[in-house]
Amino acid sequence: MKIKKNDTVQILLGKDRGKNGKVLRVSTKENKVWVEGLNMYKRHVKKVGQTEGGIIGISKPLNISNVALVCPHCKKPARVGFQVEGDIKVRVCKKCKEAIK
Ligand SMILES: [Zn+2]
Repeated sequence: MKIKKNDTVQILLGKDRGKNGKVLRVSTKENKVWVEGLNMYKRHVKKVGQTEGGIIGISKPLNISNVALVCPHCKKPARVGFQVEGDIKVRVCKKCKEAIK
């Protein structure tokens, strides 16, 4: 998996195309990522008991192929390769060759 929780990604498709955000959650099974504050949709919620009704924003997951990892070194959407350091597989930005931790 190239994208992990807390990574910064850029959205490649849809209404939030070109925007950056932080990854909140990754589902490797479904190949989906949830990005903070992006790909939101509004949902009307009914008043239930003590909970106030109204409109809330919910973050919809994005397909992992529709986001690009933003390299923390060159601050650009990067193509990611892998390098093996000892027993650990490290992600490497193909542009600046820096490891992405
Ligand atoms: Zn880079």
